[in-house]
Amino acid sequence: MKIEIAQHCGFCTGVKNAVQLARDSLKDQGKIAVLGDLVHNKVVMDELRDEGLVFVDSLEEVGDMPLLLRAHGTDVNLIHAAKEMGLNIIDATCPLVQEIHKHACELEEEGRQVIVIGDRYHDEVLGVVSRLHDPCIIESPEDLYSCKLKQRTGVVIQSTQRIENVQNILPLLLTKSRDCRIINTICEPTRRNQTEILSLAKNNDCVLVIGDPASANSKRLYEVARSLNENALMVAGKEEINVARLKGCTSIGITAGASTPRKLIEEIVTYIKTLNGDTIK
Ligand code: SF4
Repeated sequence: MKIEIAQHCGFCTGVKNAVQLARDSLKDQGKIAVLGDLVHNKVVMDELRDEGLVFVDSLEEVGDMPLLLRAHGTDVNLIHAAKEMGLNIIDATCPLVQEIHKHACELEEEGRQVIVIGDRYHDEVLGVVSRLHDPCIIESPEDLYSCKLKQRTGVVIQSTQRIENVQNILPLLLTKSRDCRIINTICEPTRRNQTEILSLAKNNDCVLVIGDPASANSKRLYEVARSLNENALMVAGKEEINVARLKGCTSIGITAGASTPRKLIEEIVTYIKTLNGDTIK
């Protein structure tokens, strides 16, 4: 079986930097607290937990540990509260997420109602809307039917959104807003991965997306792959690979979400090779 691995897969720069910052800070300072998931991957989080990262649910649990802010952004009210408590903050927010915060605030300063296209309950989206006065979150075209928009609007997009979903939303949005300024904030790694999965899904009998179920961008890669190739699978680890589904496949394309560590990708590629893989591209 031919194995084709996406040219870019696994940790994006934002996640890579956040994990590195966590590791460096743990070496320097011993234990560090983080609110929620630092990155959406259980393998990475378990490793960091072993190295001293402490996952907490509230600021009160932080105690005298430094507080690490995660890659995909944090509610600004929480940051203010942490500062008021005098906590030592280590900021691992991805610069591309910070750009979204900046663009959203600028659109509001222009007098526009800010529309955030993204997953309503995702931490990144919650972090963006926490910085705004009258935001509107749109997940799908259907959300637009029930929402009343101002005439002047501005749009930012969750960094990991599926491009196709945004393309479905925008035409309808433009019928509802006379003066709309759109800033495409889907990040470069997401765009690149979503482009690469197209050829991977078309050129191979089967596609394997490696990613944690909590990872939004892994799920999107799987959705795109599944829309083009009914033999698409998403797995968090090699034990989840349904070998029967690979039977009869002469080629397999492999990609991974932005929070999937390299060693997990290598482990799965090695496993596939032991099944019957022979050539790797
Ligand atoms: S997916 Fe994009 S925005 Fe999110 S952490 Fe990675 S590079 Fe940054």
